Amino acid sequence: MSTTTAPIDVRTEAFADFMADYPYASEVDSIADLPLQFFTADDTGEVFYARVLGFGSSYRKTHLNHAPGTKPAPGKSCSRCRWTDTAILWAQPVEDEGDGRFKPIARWQYVFVSLGKSAIEGEWQRDTIIWTEDAEDVLRKLFVPTKKDFRRDTGDMAIPPHNAAAFRDAACVDERIADLLARYEPVIPQGSRNGADVDPLAGL
Ligand SMILES: [Zn+2]
Repeated sequence: MSTTTAPIDVRTEAFADFMADYPYASEVDSIADLPLQFFTADDTGEVFYARVLGFGSSYRKTHLNHAPGTKPAPGKSCSRCRWTDTAILWAQPVEDEGDGRFKPIARWQYVFVSLGKSAIEGEWQRDTIIWTEDAEDVLRKLFVPTKKDFRRDTGDMAIPPHNAAAFRDAACVDERIADLLARYEPVIPQGSRNGADVDPLAGL
């Protein structure tokens, strides 16, 4: 394999921009119709080829629970100030052999990407990047605590709509994810890729 394209770091806004023009898996005929792209996800120089099977964001255009210019009160959420971008990739790590040539160094596998973002000054982005050959691990990572004061022994977990959207898109082109979707359908909500998806004014 060879390439001349610089890798996109999945942790950056360049990835979100890239995804704005990327086709949804639910809208293509097969996985081969999803463009193969060169990515990186850490600071060690690791690079990989991947197709993005699913993407979703909890970002909303409006502030909730507080006025713009102020911070959400402790315990209050606002998806204009803090949100998560989730992506499910099908990827193969490669090694740079120089002269634009790259050699595979591991099997094709899933990469689950969860980027906890914040527009509030002084707050850091929280990245979760999971590599796994097991589709069930991807499903497990979709679940998040339903309450802020989550305790692992008593807390409830559920799949938020943007994670469900990414998983449901991935199921359109990935057989193992499709099997899991069929098996666990009752706990996987209908997806919402982002806040702009459902517009009651559309079509009026
Ligand atoms: Zn806000």
